[in-house]
Amino acid sequence: PEAPRIRNFSIIAHIDHGKSTLADRLLEATGTVSARQMKAQFLDRMDIERERGITIKAQTVRLSYRAADGEAYALNLIDTPGHVDFSYEVSRSLAACEGALLVVDASQGVEAQTLANVYLALENDLEIIPVLNKIDLPSADPDRVRREIEDIIGLDASAAILASAKEGLGTEEILEAVVRRIPPPGGDPAGPLRALIFDSWFDSYQGAVVLVRVVDGAIRPGDRIRMMSTGQEYEVSRVGHFAPDAVDRDVLGAGDVGFLTAAIKSVRDTRVGDTITGARRPASAPLPGFRPVKAMVFCGLYPVDSAQYDQLKEAVEKLWLNDPAFSYEPETSSALGFGFRCGFLGLLHMEIIQERLEREFELSLISTAPAVPYEVTLADGTVTKIHNPAQMPPPDRIAQVAEPYVRAEIHLPKEYVGAVMRLCDEKRGTQAGMRYLTPDRVLLTYEMPFNEIVLDFYDRLKSASRGYASLDYDFIGWRPADLVKLDILINRQPVDALSVIVHKEKAYYRGRDLAGRLRRVIPRQLYEVVIQAAVGGRVIARERIPPLRKDVTAKCYGGDITRKRKLLERQKAGKKRMKQVGSVEIPQEAFLSVLKV
Ligand code: GDP
Ligand code: MG
Repeated sequence: PEAPRIRNFSIIAHIDHGKSTLADRLLEATGTVSARQMKAQFLDRMDIERERGITIKAQTVRLSYRAADGEAYALNLIDTPGHVDFSYEVSRSLAACEGALLVVDASQGVEAQTLANVYLALENDLEIIPVLNKIDLPSADPDRVRREIEDIIGLDASAAILASAKEGLGTEEILEAVVRRIPPPGGDPAGPLRALIFDSWFDSYQGAVVLVRVVDGAIRPGDRIRMMSTGQEYEVSRVGHFAPDAVDRDVLGAGDVGFLTAAIKSVRDTRVGDTITGARRPASAPLPGFRPVKAMVFCGLYPVDSAQYDQLKEAVEKLWLNDPAFSYEPETSSALGFGFRCGFLGLLHMEIIQERLEREFELSLISTAPAVPYEVTLADGTVTKIHNPAQMPPPDRIAQVAEPYVRAEIHLPKEYVGAVMRLCDEKRGTQAGMRYLTPDRVLLTYEMPFNEIVLDFYDRLKSASRGYASLDYDFIGWRPADLVKLDILINRQPVDALSVIVHKEKAYYRGRDLAGRLRRVIPRQLYEVVIQAAVGGRVIARERIPPLRKDVTAKCYGGDITRKRKLLERQKAGKKRMKQVGSVEIPQEAFLSVLKV
């Protein structure tokens, strides 16, 4: 269809408010997916997403809808993730849309990410249609939530749609609102091609599959296209859309959203955010890209079996193509060998990438504890960023260490304000504001070191508020702090991969705690293992693991062969996640024990 019959929209929501379930209803109601094919959260394609019940990668699907006005419309639905770690994905999806359904759980109300996502939508000038979901719940209070949307966000919610994605209420009304309230895409169909890459992934048969929003011009199979950032050219092999399977088309016109393939083999040539133009009649300027993002959590990833290094290298490169917020560079650790220092937006992002590397690429990995970057000013005045605690220069060469700070916005019911304020104080936070959004809901604003959030803030916040508080944060800059490197020595050898940066006042306590934890997670070995924690060469804690006395299988008395085999198998499985460091086998948990305080 021509642009006037196209609508490009997203669904935005706080996590668990029902975005994926609503997408399922839209797929069903438009016959895009039959009831027989339907699985819950259909768009959450990747296994990990299904298991964790969250949406990670935005997915795109075309719905064909005959509206009440009798016309046939093509509705391009671009699903977005709801978690704070993925706001980058949200903003790039929104750049491909003219409107968004704002789903708010009618029993919960406006939460931190409802607001964060609405702001992203408003930045992109989207038409926002509020949907009050879960009205089937007895605790639903649509009038209160409608007032919250008006008071907190400042959106007119008088025409908010009442819905139950679970029971299919309101679906038809939502589809009509998409057609009537979201403007059709603009753009110049006759102009030189400009298409925004908003997602891409690698397919071993077709090369890169690139999701684009065509802004001006059109793309057809056989066209020669050019990537504006690199100047690389390709001949288009296929264009089409997902409904939900790939459907080939003759053309993707101005205003449309779809995919293209062009036998693109080099994964570096389809960077998300880049503009595609025509090689014969190139556009003069690219489309505005996305808000740049900076990784703020780093960890080392190493193959358990060093023979898997090349596989890991290929895998991180492929994931990087698909996820520009993920970064990597080669790193060598004296303890762990060759691997990569990888950067992530947050902890969830990190876990997801690790899990994808292991599942999709069949790798077995050891990861070091996540750490934030530090900005170090040396005695001679040079300033460097450190992404690995092991790189921290010796204290006598350092003039100042600064750590990243965030402004944290916490939404919570008023009864938990006291407990959450105490937690924020403990986490070195400074209160920057407190506001009653409604008589029962409070917005607390704190400035705090991001390192504290990486440690365990989110879990602690959830327990301090019985799960009711929600969090969003933004980086506000670097602030100097009294920070030192805590080293761990195993049998007197420093293990670089276990170093952490800690606040000086907490160093003694953290060192003892960490040495104690390591004693508990490192299994007994044939020889004695001595664990030491040290700051600036001074040992502040020491633990000892006594040697094993007998062969572990000896206690099977040689009799029960199945039991013996089981024991050996269990040992073998455990070994998979062990890394030989000097003469000592260190399990994966050891590298993460610094996270537990
Ligand atoms: P998302 O994180 O926003 O994608 O949320 P999901 O669609 O995964 O839904 C989160 C949970 O809320 C799931 O357990 C859904 O079954 C449930 N849910 C979604 N919509 C409704 C609804 O209208 N009513 C009720 N009672 N539950 C719903
Ligand atoms: Mg979801």
